Amino acid sequence: MPQSQIYTDFDATSDTPAEEPVGPALPDLTTVMDACRGRLHRRLSELLSLEQLCRQAGALISSRTEALIEVDEFTLPLTSLVIGNPDTAKHCLLLIAGIHGVERIGTQVLLAWLESVIERCRWDSHWRRQFDEEICIVALPIVNPGGMLRDSRCNPNGIDINRHAPIDAEDKVPFLVGGQRLSRKIPWYRGRREDDFEPEFVALQNVIGRHCRVGRPTIAIDFHSGFGFQDHIWIPYAYRRQPIADIGSYVALKLLWERNFPHHNYIFGPQAMHYLSHGDIWDYFHQRCRSEGISLLPLTLEMGSWLWIKKHPQQLFSFAGLFNPTVPHRHARVLRGHLLLIDFILAAARNIEHWQPHGEQAREMQQMAQSLWYRQL
Ligand SMILES: [Zn+2]
Repeated sequence: MPQSQIYTDFDATSDTPAEEPVGPALPDLTTVMDACRGRLHRRLSELLSLEQLCRQAGALISSRTEALIEVDEFTLPLTSLVIGNPDTAKHCLLLIAGIHGVERIGTQVLLAWLESVIERCRWDSHWRRQFDEEICIVALPIVNPGGMLRDSRCNPNGIDINRHAPIDAEDKVPFLVGGQRLSRKIPWYRGRREDDFEPEFVALQNVIGRHCRVGRPTIAIDFHSGFGFQDHIWIPYAYRRQPIADIGSYVALKLLWERNFPHHNYIFGPQAMHYLSHGDIWDYFHQRCRSEGISLLPLTLEMGSWLWIKKHPQQLFSFAGLFNPTVPHRHARVLRGHLLLIDFILAAARNIEHWQPHGEQAREMQQMAQSLWYRQL
């Protein structure tokens, strides 16, 4: 069995984290938007919503331009948002959406939740106090603005950012879907080994490098859509079928969720039980953080879009229709349907010391994972 491959310029086994390049700061969100705002209405309303959220939140949110993405006649900002104090927060919740540009609903769900966080900060002093020092929220709501502008899964260079990380699967992956180097004209293209990393990937790496630290545990949620008839909370470990090193913590989180919300409707389990893939960003960043002694528990919220299509088959006639609810009442249901889960993950991240298993308890959770998911291995 081949070893997972980590390229030397992003060595996950290195003790020294890659330094974020120091250069002139990129222009702020408003400045970048001034040049394109009027032309984005029908094509990238999510970016307008993100800007509006920042404007309405005032000092409650700080934003930063992580990269500028050139696409068609536009220069689009890749923006990170922070709620809370990232210098002193004891815990971190990292929220990522829009890696696959066509999956707009992930970005919309995340922005809807961030709006509710900000609104609640205005009247709930207890809620707001958590952001003084307990936890910070770091969000990249549109990782791939160029892909979203074009309703495309890949970025403007034809590369699938979630097949682009420098890590190879240890076992057979599904043809094409698991990541391919044949052509950028076919989806799931990883990019060539010898080329530079794409700006969207570098931005993710910079944000994780800046905010995920030793002694500050982080839970991440990455929002996607398109797989199955039901919503999945995936343990995004896609390069091998063996359990992820933190599997005991995942089992504890699953049990905590199920004890608190026994009537929930998510399937919680490892992605690798469905398929493996090359170049998965969370395989890479989890492995890398772990090698540096940083606790990062990534999750993927994979919203099942097949049910939306089954109920409204006309969606089959557009590519975006395969990944997004197009009927207004269903769209609204999806926007409100995940708020409880994200609230719960925020609380779980803030209280991780209260439920994360150690020692004998962790071993019991690992055994439970075996019987839950890995019996056939
Ligand atoms: Zn996706």
